[in-house]
Amino acid sequence: MKRNLRNYTLEEIQTLISELGLHPYRGKQIYHWITAKNATTFDEMTDLPKALRQRLKEHFTLALPEVMSALSDEEGTTKFALKLWDNEIIEMVIIPERDHYTLCVSTQVGCSMGCKFCLTAKMGFKRNLEVYEIISQVVLAKKYLREKGAELPLRNVVFMGMGEPLANYERVVKALRILADKEGFNFSRKRLTVSTVGLIEKLERLSKEFPTALALSLHAPSDELRQELMPIAKKYSLATLITTLKGFPRVKKGRHTIEYVLLKGVNDGIEEAKALAKLLSGLPIKVNLIPFNPHPDLPYERPTEEAMEGFQKFLLSKGILTTVRKSKGLKISAACGHLSAKHQALQIHTFHKPHHPLTYSQAL
Ligand code: SAH
Repeated sequence: MKRNLRNYTLEEIQTLISELGLHPYRGKQIYHWITAKNATTFDEMTDLPKALRQRLKEHFTLALPEVMSALSDEEGTTKFALKLWDNEIIEMVIIPERDHYTLCVSTQVGCSMGCKFCLTAKMGFKRNLEVYEIISQVVLAKKYLREKGAELPLRNVVFMGMGEPLANYERVVKALRILADKEGFNFSRKRLTVSTVGLIEKLERLSKEFPTALALSLHAPSDELRQELMPIAKKYSLATLITTLKGFPRVKKGRHTIEYVLLKGVNDGIEEAKALAKLLSGLPIKVNLIPFNPHPDLPYERPTEEAMEGFQKFLLSKGILTTVRKSKGLKISAACGHLSAKHQALQIHTFHKPHHPLTYSQAL
């Protein structure tokens, strides 16, 4: 099988190119094309001799996953279903912000963490994504935005799609390195966010090897409640998590994000808010409250507006910076962390021209 060049760092590409008897400089040119210039074919690499492009085609591929569908809501949040080489399907979401776009990427097909409120968990774990499959999501998003004539840049990538990024540690870290490389994609590390349930050993490695912005999925202020919601909490206590968080470098003095999914009548009361404020007191964090995204297959309900407001107000009153995630893409179930390969539902909508993404109502 041909090697996909998106799997490699600049140095590795230079080595691969040298092995073909070519000057490493060619490696740099190719790397620029596939990262900064977002090339999707060798033929676009017009400053390479034709014969060289032909040789590259014989040895390597730049193949991208196939876009099966793109569903947009009124605000422009767009969810993509992508088909991988082995017919597995993952999702990614482009979210428009005030002055940039954010891309939410998947890191695994399915997930093994088993969180009770999460749709991806329902699929179980299928496999890890390869580096090129993670990078390809960025390439596809940039291509889509370019073809749509979008003026704002894709500036943030959040690893909050399907899967647990730190359970696919090596590949995720390599993808982060490639995305942050100044010679290539050039994403700022503080704009690359890894969201995790908190796999302690992996967090400790990340903190030494390649710290980025961090979002910790906490969801409960006590071990008891957390264990009910997230099986992983049986392995790692809140106390160890908090210690690890304290030791994690703050990229550019930023705050770490604590994600807290609000589940009606489960963890959305003032009691929990009090316990949470106590737990987080004095830490360099901000809390992002995520109203639960309901789904018929999930046993929880969305909290009331009053409960959300009350929870937020309480934390704010304790001096904790607290935001409530707007329910972007709710109608297209595109809210980050609410992804599942709803293949059948998605496959029937063939991919239309990118500048005419399907709206939800059209799709129905
Ligand atoms: N495994 C990683 C990243 C993927 S989930 C993690 O757990 O952080 C990204 C976020 O979406 C997590 O905070 C997750 O708890 C949240 N999420 C999952 N299912 C959700 C749902 N139904 N409604 C709202 N948020 C959800």
